[in-house]
Amino acid sequence: MLSPKRSRITNIWSKVSEEDTGVFSKVVIESTEAFDYRAGREGNNIVLEARGTVANMPEGLIGVNDGLVREISLVQKGPEIALVVICLDHPAGHEIEVTPGIPVRTVITLERSFLAGLFKGKKIAIDPGHGGNDWGGRGPVNLVEKNVVMPVARNLRKLFEQAGAQAVLTRTSDENVTREKRFEIARKWGADLFISIHTHSHRDCRVGGTAVLYSPEGLAAADMIKEEVIKKLKLADRGLRESRDYEGLGIPAVEVEVVTITNWVEEGLLRSPTVHKKAAEGIFNGVKNYFARTSTF
Ligand SMILES: [Zn+2]
Repeated sequence: MLSPKRSRITNIWSKVSEEDTGVFSKVVIESTEAFDYRAGREGNNIVLEARGTVANMPEGLIGVNDGLVREISLVQKGPEIALVVICLDHPAGHEIEVTPGIPVRTVITLERSFLAGLFKGKKIAIDPGHGGNDWGGRGPVNLVEKNVVMPVARNLRKLFEQAGAQAVLTRTSDENVTREKRFEIARKWGADLFISIHTHSHRDCRVGGTAVLYSPEGLAAADMIKEEVIKKLKLADRGLRESRDYEGLGIPAVEVEVVTITNWVEEGLLRSPTVHKKAAEGIFNGVKNYFARTSTF
């Protein structure tokens, strides 16, 4: 069947959608008219050949990194054929549905059950640093570390729970909690991983970037988390460093210094809920890769 009019593809975007039947990744292709297409698979990837022309948007790669969809590539293959490749980190079933309207939306729904398998039975302790009269670092415009780590921790808990894991916060309000108490919460609860959220401080306000500290058992997780947080926030890589702060915890521990709060630009970033969310997504993706590597399937 041929579309009566030429279709122009004007936008592609994606989101993670929580529905009654589960959590899904959705890739949405917007176009001026419905287009004919042929969909197939290459390994984990979904390849969609659309009869249409790319217009008002650049061709190339769109980075997604939502835990399932890594990136989407869009290329004009011939005068009338646009090639959309959805690159997936894991195998996933998909469905395609076309919703008429202005614009027409071709929605590729991907099931995230692989993630549920990966996170099933996993317990993660999330430790928002500082609290109460312990303010932690302070930015040039007076943003304080104890406050900015909280939304990152809450976003992270939501992502773990969405994926089917259990997550606990070692501090839920602006209160002093001793290190021993935080460890005790994680241990009693039977956490598989301890993730502490902090920011870095430096007396030179030009120094910036992301670093990850770790206990000896936490090295593998730290390495993967740093890679994914940098992919999301695109800040300087301040490296990995072993920390003695987690001695005696007995659980692999990772401390993420998400940004450097004393840096003018990075303090500004911390005011944005989008940045809190992206930082959490980066940490989540790193933990996902860590569990994928250590799981048996
Ligand atoms: Zn700190």
